[in-house]
Amino acid sequence: MARFLAEAGESVLVVDRGGIGAGASGRNGGFLFRQPAPWIAELLDEAIGWYRALEDEGPVPVDLCPWPMLLLAVEEAELAHARAYAAAVGGEEVDLREHSWLADDLAGGFLVEGGVTLDAMGATTAAAEAARRGGALFLLGCEGKRILVAGGRVSGLVADEGVIRCGRVVVATGPRLRFLLRTAGADLPVSSSRGWLLETGRVDPPPPYAIEQAAWPEQAEMAPLSLDPTLGEVAASAVNEPSLVSLLLGGRPAGHCLIGTSLARSLLEEPEGPGTVRRLAERAVRVAPHLAAVPVVASWSGRRAMTPDGLPVVGRVGDIEGLDVLGGLSSIGMLTAPGLARRLAEGDSGPFAAERLA
Ligand SMILES: Cc1cc2nc3c(=O)[nH]c(=O)nc-3n(C[C@H](O)[C@H](O)[C@H](O)COP(=O)(O)OP(=O)(O)OC[C@H]3O[C@@H](n4cnc5c(N)ncnc54)[C@H](O)[C@@H]3O)c2cc1C
Repeated sequence: MARFLAEAGESVLVVDRGGIGAGASGRNGGFLFRQPAPWIAELLDEAIGWYRALEDEGPVPVDLCPWPMLLLAVEEAELAHARAYAAAVGGEEVDLREHSWLADDLAGGFLVEGGVTLDAMGATTAAAEAARRGGALFLLGCEGKRILVAGGRVSGLVADEGVIRCGRVVVATGPRLRFLLRTAGADLPVSSSRGWLLETGRVDPPPPYAIEQAAWPEQAEMAPLSLDPTLGEVAASAVNEPSLVSLLLGGRPAGHCLIGTSLARSLLEEPEGPGTVRRLAERAVRVAPHLAAVPVVASWSGRRAMTPDGLPVVGRVGDIEGLDVLGGLSSIGMLTAPGLARRLAEGDSGPFAAERLA
C-alpha cells in the first residue's frame, strides 16, 4: 500500500509497532490459490502479476513458484463439496491411487492449476523495499496510540515517537483495526481469528502438489465462524471451542514443508493453547503416512482480521476526512492485498467500501 500511495504522489510514512512483516503478513503460508468467488479470482491474477514484477525488480527474492493445487477430499463426506469447488475453479479429477506420496484410502482429489506459493516474509520485505524506492519512509517499533481529528478531518497520529502531523491516516493494523479507528470516533466490526502453521525438516521426495483439504470454508462461510463472541458465549467458554482444522500443505524451495491451517475465534494476542498443533500433525499423517517420520522444526500462529461478510474493507471510513482503512483481509491477505492497495490509492473502493459495514 505504501508503494502505491507513494507512486500516486502522496508523502508516505509507515508507522508499525513491530518490524517489517510483524503481523500475519510475515508469518503466513504464502499460498495463493484459485477460489470460486469471482472477486478473489480477479485479485489473484493481479497479485501474481504484481509479485512477479516485484521479484523481477529485485533485490529481495520472493520465491514465487507456480504450484498445482490438489483439492483433496480426505473422507467421503468431503467429496461433494470438493467436486463443486473444483467445478467452479476448473479443477480436473485425478486418480489418487497413482500417487504413492499420498495415503491409499483418500476419498478423491481434483487438480487445480494457476496457483502459486511465495515466501511471505520475502514478499513483505520486498514490498517494503519497493515502497522505500518509491519514496516512503518507515518508523518501525513505534505504536500508533490515537488518531487526532480537528474540525472533522484527520490532523495527526499520536505515536511512541510523539505527535506526527498529517492530513490522512490509513489504518492497516490487521486484527487491531477497530481499536485504533475507535480513537477517531469511528468503528468497524472487524474481529479476529487465529490460525496455526507447522514447519517441517526436509521432506524427500517433496510433495508433488500443494494440497488443500476440501474442509476449509469459502470466504462467505468463514465470516460467521469468526464473529466476535458475546459475553454469554465467553462465560460459557465458547472462545476456547476447538478450532476448525483443515489440511493445507506445500513444499518450499529449500526442501521443507509448511503445514496448516486452522481457524478459531481469538480475543487474546497470545496463543490460546497447543491442541491445534497436534490436530494439524494428525491430519498431515492421515493424508501422507510417511510424513510421520519427518521432524517438525517450528510451529507458530497468527491472527487474521475478519469482517462479518468475509469481504475486505477498503477506503474512507465515516464522515472524517482523511481517515481510511485497508483491512479485513481474512485468510487470503497475500492474495488480495496488492489489488486492494491499488484500489485504495486510486480512490476506488468498489464492493469493499466501508459503508456496507456501518
Ligand atoms: C496462520 C495463517 C496462515 C495464512 N496463510 C495465508 C496464505 O497462505 N495466503 C494468503 O493469502 N493469506 C494467508 N494468511 C492471511 C494473511 O496473512 C493476512 O490476511 C494478511 O497478512 C493481513 O495483512 P494486514 O497487513 O492486514 O495485517 P498484519 O499483517 O497483521 O499487519 C498489521 C500490522 O499492524 C501493526 N500494528 C497493529 N497495531 C498497531 C498500532 N497501534 N500502531 C502501529 N502498528 C500497529 C502490526 O505490528 C502489524 O505489523 C494467513 C494468516 C494466518 C494467520
